[in-house]
Amino acid sequence: MEEKVTVDGLTFVPYLRQEEISRQVKRVAEELRNDLKDSAPHFICVLNGAFIFASDLIREIGINDSTISFVRYKSYQGLTSTGSVKQLIGMTEDIDGKDVVIIEDIVDTGLTAVQMIDDLKKRNPNSIRFATLLHKPESSKTGFQPDYVAFQIPPKFIIGYGLDLDGKGRNLKDIYVVAE
Ligand code: IMP
Ligand code: MG
Repeated sequence: MEEKVTVDGLTFVPYLRQEEISRQVKRVAEELRNDLKDSAPHFICVLNGAFIFASDLIREIGINDSTISFVRYKSYQGLTSTGSVKQLIGMTEDIDGKDVVIIEDIVDTGLTAVQMIDDLKKRNPNSIRFATLLHKPESSKTGFQPDYVAFQIPPKFIIGYGLDLDGKGRNLKDIYVVAE
């Protein structure tokens, strides 16, 4: 029994259910909690897509001394990467000496991740970790490997749980893949 959804005239079918998402978010949270146990980490949520993942993840990690801020990058137009990454909102927080964890919705070409890490290194953090909900390794143009991955997926376009098609579909509780 599958409920299709239509966004901007495109049909999507369920791909990852909320129960499965929640299980993997808990697993990644546990890995991060173990790796950060003697630290007061600073999380950086990459807007817009990662806002739901970040909100679930930081609450699961449950480190009361942790802090969070937000950056915004944009690289996608419709269903494809434009190949150029634009920073729309930058970092203002002081991360000097901090253990930083970047929280992303999806790593596709890896261009956003590489640029972001480059930008952050200039601010002298103690360490930078990269956590992503989804990783499409076959789409990589950079060889970038995230440190924490909830799901590895094939190079298909997906929406839901924060991910969008031109701004729409972020509200969906499950993750959906574009129908063949
Ligand atoms: P990258 O720079 O190519 O790795 O692209 C990463 C960004 O592209 C993500 O943060 C998303 O905003 C967007 N993106 C990549 N694949 C998808 C997808 O399947 N659905 C929705 N957005 C995507
Ligand atoms: Mg994004």
